[in-house]
Amino acid sequence: MKFVLIGCPGAGKGTQAKKLSKHYDIAHISTGDLLRDQIARKTELGVEISKIMEEGGLVSDEIVARMLKGRIQEADCKNGYILDGYPRNVPQAQGLEDIVGKLDKVICIDVEDSKIIDRMTGRRGCPKCGSMYHVRYNPPKIEGVCDNCGEKLIQRKDDNEETVKNRLDVYHKTTAPVIDFYKEKGLLATIVGSGEIEDIFSDIVKALEE
Ligand SMILES: [Zn+2]
Repeated sequence: MKFVLIGCPGAGKGTQAKKLSKHYDIAHISTGDLLRDQIARKTELGVEISKIMEEGGLVSDEIVARMLKGRIQEADCKNGYILDGYPRNVPQAQGLEDIVGKLDKVICIDVEDSKIIDRMTGRRGCPKCGSMYHVRYNPPKIEGVCDNCGEKLIQRKDDNEETVKNRLDVYHKTTAPVIDFYKEKGLLATIVGSGEIEDIFSDIVKALEE
């Protein structure tokens, strides 16, 4: 099984990808992780990528495609894979079939912007032990203090309303054409992503097995 997972930042894509990868025994391929991995292992491509990033450039579609081609040859992809974070634009979507063949489905996890803003701006983390909280949905016993280690909780800089709104705007602008592209191909299944993790998971499984 091969499918693409689309969803805005904060939609719970990572959580679902992890569960789906286990459920179907398929690989979870995140292009962001792939880039970081190439850089960390200092491969030939990794060196090329770090240079581009240091110069403030964008990693080209061609490089990402090359990386993806290599990744899907690996053993854990024999039953298939989930593509997460790719394709990001229509040219990438058009080129994808040449790399992976025919996709089984494109799953879009859809969550209203207001819910995403609520989720992300309420997040608080512990800088010492890494525990995560939410001011409303998962508050610590004492406001602003980590249950686990007593450290003062902090809000990540990126989790302020303005930054989250900007990221959502960029997401909608770039992803809407990709969604339309797959809708026209009859591959798109849109899943409401605002409920419980388990319910969203079973909705995705249902859509994949339709
Ligand atoms: Zn802590």
